[in-house]
Amino acid sequence: QTKPSTQRVTVLGSTGSIGTSTLDVIGRHPDRYSVHALTAHTSKESLLAQCLTHRPAVAVLDDEADAAWLRQELRRAGLPTEVNAGPEALCEVARDASVDCVMAAIVGAAGLLPALAAAEAGKRVLLANKEALVMSGALFMDAVSHSGATLLPIDSEHNAIYQCLPAEHRGGLARHGISQLLLTASGGPFRTWSQADINNVTPEQACAHPNWSMGRKISVDSATMMNKGLELIEACWLFDATPEQIQVVVHPQSVIHSMAAYHDGSVIAQLGNPDMRTPIAYGLAWPERIDAGVETLDLFQVARLDFEAPDEVRFPCLGLAREAMQQGGMAPVVLNAANEIAVDAFLQRQLRFTAIGQLVAEILSRPYEGRVDSLESVLATDQWARQQALELVTRWSA
Ligand code: NAD
Ligand code: MG
Repeated sequence: QTKPSTQRVTVLGSTGSIGTSTLDVIGRHPDRYSVHALTAHTSKESLLAQCLTHRPAVAVLDDEADAAWLRQELRRAGLPTEVNAGPEALCEVARDASVDCVMAAIVGAAGLLPALAAAEAGKRVLLANKEALVMSGALFMDAVSHSGATLLPIDSEHNAIYQCLPAEHRGGLARHGISQLLLTASGGPFRTWSQADINNVTPEQACAHPNWSMGRKISVDSATMMNKGLELIEACWLFDATPEQIQVVVHPQSVIHSMAAYHDGSVIAQLGNPDMRTPIAYGLAWPERIDAGVETLDLFQVARLDFEAPDEVRFPCLGLAREAMQQGGMAPVVLNAANEIAVDAFLQRQLRFTAIGQLVAEILSRPYEGRVDSLESVLATDQWARQQALELVTRWSA
């Protein structure tokens, strides 16, 4: 048996929830993976600790003063790590010629350019940053096919669907005998709450997810079910599906991570404990399998699996996302930008929880134009929608 050659990995957003889990899996397999670069926004202490353990060639922070601090600390520890700052430095470590694999785990639109740089450079791209695909689906998938990059979904649902599809599944679901994708959703922490109680939700309550421990933005998205809406859009791009081919199934235990239904009546599901190290390890090792540090599912402990339809009255964000994808063009860009601003305002206690969906709906209803034919137009529409949303936050919180 031949020993696998080592892959050089860049982890974008290494200090976050996905980034930390990625380094946990990488740390279990020093014979297979070495770290080229680690990046963080402002968490310089965490990034320092990660650099001391994983000894990357490059580390990136947003701010030059933070980078100077990290550079000095690393010199003091005797490490030669190069430390850079700013968005262009993120793209550089994503496309560097020595890199095989890029984990795209920055949250939000800030992750788009480096993820796209990795795709354009033909890397193995492990995509956690769903907002990148929501914003630039057509451009991103084009970049992947032009460069020959390998795109592996890390979002647990999409990773599950990927595992349930035939190895070659490009060209539309029907060609491969698939009738529907069943996208499972936990329903979030307020699944059983009344509308009246949902109105008064606090950021602390929204960030306490029943099954998954995640960053704050995606936790709020899970609570509004915008996360499932973004994932529906993500699935359309990844699997050449239409919104009508995707059914959202609320499954509170989060044991089935999603399913593919075939024309012959077969439904194939992927199951596992809710631990992101499983999809991360799958992406890192594909087409092989490696230990992820995740315990085997104990079905006797799970005991039962429940399913219900999503309630789009109490959780309107799912419908907004589906409509944005059906409308196409810039609508998903506007949806995503307005949502990022609204979630941020909610976390800062400037907006109430239910205003998140209201704000997104309001911005989506305003006239905007543009086709997703260039990155510049995507970024311009993103900026426009953010500006509109910020003005609305100011007005509504006054
Ligand atoms: P997080 O908030 O825990 O971590 C985000 C990371 O990105 C951090 O390292 C942070 O320093 C960095 N970052 C934030 N803003 C940045 C900016 N402006 N510029 C550069 N770097 C920046 O988030 P997370 O939960 O790890 O999620 C990361 C992405 O993965 C999100 O797009 C999320 O939707 C997706 N995802 C997460 C999970 C999960 O279980 N956490 C599951 C599926 C998908
Ligand atoms: Mg998910």
